[in-house]
Amino acid sequence: MLNRKGLLLVVSGPSGAGKGTICKALLNKNDQIKLSVSATTRKPRNGEVHGVNYFFIEKEEFTKMIENGEFLEHAQIYDNFYGTPKAAIIECLEKGQDVILEIEMQGARQIKEVYPEGVFIFVLPPSLEELKSRIVGRGTETQEEIEKRFSCAFEEINQIVNYDYFIVNEDIEKSVNDVEAIISAEKNKVTRY
Ligand code: 5GP
Repeated sequence: MLNRKGLLLVVSGPSGAGKGTICKALLNKNDQIKLSVSATTRKPRNGEVHGVNYFFIEKEEFTKMIENGEFLEHAQIYDNFYGTPKAAIIECLEKGQDVILEIEMQGARQIKEVYPEGVFIFVLPPSLEELKSRIVGRGTETQEEIEKRFSCAFEEINQIVNYDYFIVNEDIEKSVNDVEAIISAEKNKVTRY
């Protein structure tokens, strides 16, 4: 009997590389994959919905969840905390459902330690100029945040060595196809069984 456990896909990349857009487009196209909804202490942006984009919680609750071991990983990014709730992910994987996590690199490293069989994908922007114009164009960050995120992106790109695959996000449709190709390949890996 083949092992039907779901795949845990971890997608990271510098802010503005387009990982969120890729994940959203992938989920619209492919209803076999479930998105992990993270908890965060950051305030919701316009249009973000509790339980859909994130579970928006207070710092005390976040701390309590850490103490109770409820996170698969958690990290502080800029001035906010982010974490991946463990229970929902375990339930999906056991049912044979694939789960995708869109998280930054500290968190991805933690997951690789506890779950090395995860599939780690790094999204690159086509160029650094393009990266900056995407961060600015998004219009959700202040000037100070934009500068902070852009300079972090330089350092973050070195982290690519910790990933299994990379995608250069020039075109969303092509990037989504690339993720699907990675999923197919992983499912047919002899060493997975
Ligand atoms: P944003 O505030 O723009 O939604 O997200 C900021 C960063 O936090 C992004 O790089 C995003 O991928 C990352 N992130 C979102 N959820 C999680 C999480 O649960 N854990 C970690 N480690 N990073 C997360």
